[in-house]
Amino acid sequence: MTTVQEERTTEELKALAERAGRELEDASALEILRWAADTFGSRFCVTSSMEDAVVAHLASRALPGVDVVFLDTGYHFPETIGTRDAVEAVMDVNVITLTPRQTVAEQDAEYGPRLHDRDPDLCCALRKVKPLEEGLKGYQAWATGLRRDESETRADTPVVGWDDKRRKVKISPIAKWSQEDVQTYVAEHGVLTNPLLMDGYASVGCAPCTRRVLEGEDARAGRWAGRSKTECGLHG
Ligand code: SF4
Repeated sequence: MTTVQEERTTEELKALAERAGRELEDASALEILRWAADTFGSRFCVTSSMEDAVVAHLASRALPGVDVVFLDTGYHFPETIGTRDAVEAVMDVNVITLTPRQTVAEQDAEYGPRLHDRDPDLCCALRKVKPLEEGLKGYQAWATGLRRDESETRADTPVVGWDDKRRKVKISPIAKWSQEDVQTYVAEHGVLTNPLLMDGYASVGCAPCTRRVLEGEDARAGRWAGRSKTECGLHG
């Protein structure tokens, strides 16, 4: 693995992100990730919800042994945990599992059961946003699998941008891909995917907040269905 450990100030990182966002808009996903590998080395990681391992696979081609960060909220489907374990077993990546400060039982004891039904923003803050903030501390840049076609809220996703909340470079190498592009890459490279994608789920999150999508719905319609909430707070 490359070991670029150059220290950069927040202003330098921000300028780097803005320039790369312009210069790499037309680059391929692999070119974007090669730039990330060359620029940040081991200070770069990929986050994965284990819906599929497409970005992890691409990143491992650019940076073998790359850190792949997975948030284990305690509410995942068994299929998601199985996908994480399979990725760890067969891919040239270093899976890092982050967990919240409290177990689900401890959270239930403090806040009452089913916080996800009563206050999903707080539940996501405790089980996703905070652990990710802690887990990303050592990195200068992180990559996500965000795509512009997933929902209106993601339509302007830059391929490289500035994550002001975490003060890091945020890379979305497949931002311009369609669902068909993802499927083609999965088929061509034999990439691991979450079995729930074959069972009517288009986007896989925590079990209590995810349902199958209906004909004609966008990919994220099955997340927090029936609520105004569309994002968990990790992206925006
Ligand atoms: Fe809680 Fe649902 Fe957010 Fe998961 S997606 S952290 S269960 S509110």
